[in-house]
Order: sequence, then structure tokens, then C-alpha cells
Amino acid sequence: MAARIPYFRTRSERAAADQAKREYEQRRTVESETRRLYWTARWRAIAKDQLAREPLCATCLVEDRVTPATVCDHVEPHRGDVVAFWTNARQSLCTSCHSSAKQAEEAADRAGRGGG
Ligand SMILES: [Zn+2]
Repeated sequence: MAARIPYFRTRSERAAADQAKREYEQRRTVESETRRLYWTARWRAIAKDQLAREPLCATCLVEDRVTPATVCDHVEPHRGDVVAFWTNARQSLCTSCHSSAKQAEEAADRAGRGGG
């Protein structure tokens, strides 16, 4: 059996760790609520309709590229809000534009929270 190595943290280190954990849990709970909505028949019908009406990637079109869209994306991020999930405007994106848009949003989120 391994010996226990004592590990002490200062009060403020503990508080910061607790705070980060709370924020993480809260965010995860809120996001998992909307993440499961992507698997509903309702969302699949919406996405299929969106891609049928706008079969080309909106971002690529702006840059004079013609790319088939594969993702139905929220123009304004819903940020875990169920009402926003169903009602926010949608656009068609290719996989590559979709993932770079999501990364930019997450970076903006982190900046908005004051880093971290
Ligand atoms: Zn694209």
C-alpha cells in the first residue's frame, strides 16, 4: 500500500478549486439538457428541412466557396437555453466552418468570463 503524501492547499486555493468545480458542473448540466435535444425527431426534422432549403454552407458562400452543408447550426448560440435552442435562427454550415465557429464561440465565452 502506498504511503499517503500529505497535500495542503491554502484556503483561497481551495475556494478557487471549489468555484471552478461548481461552474463546471453547472455548465455541464445546462449543456447536457440541450445536447440531448439534438437526438429528437423534432430537431432532426428541423435540420433536414434547413439543409434541404439551404444546401450550401453559408460561411463558405460569403467567401465565394461552394461547399455542401452538412450541419444545421444556430446563428446565435443557444448556450444551453431550451427556448433559444428551438427558436433561434438557423443556418447551414459545412463541418469545417461549423467546428471553427464553435471554437471561436468558446474562446469568446472564456474571454467574456474574464479568462480562465
Ligand atoms: Zn463552410
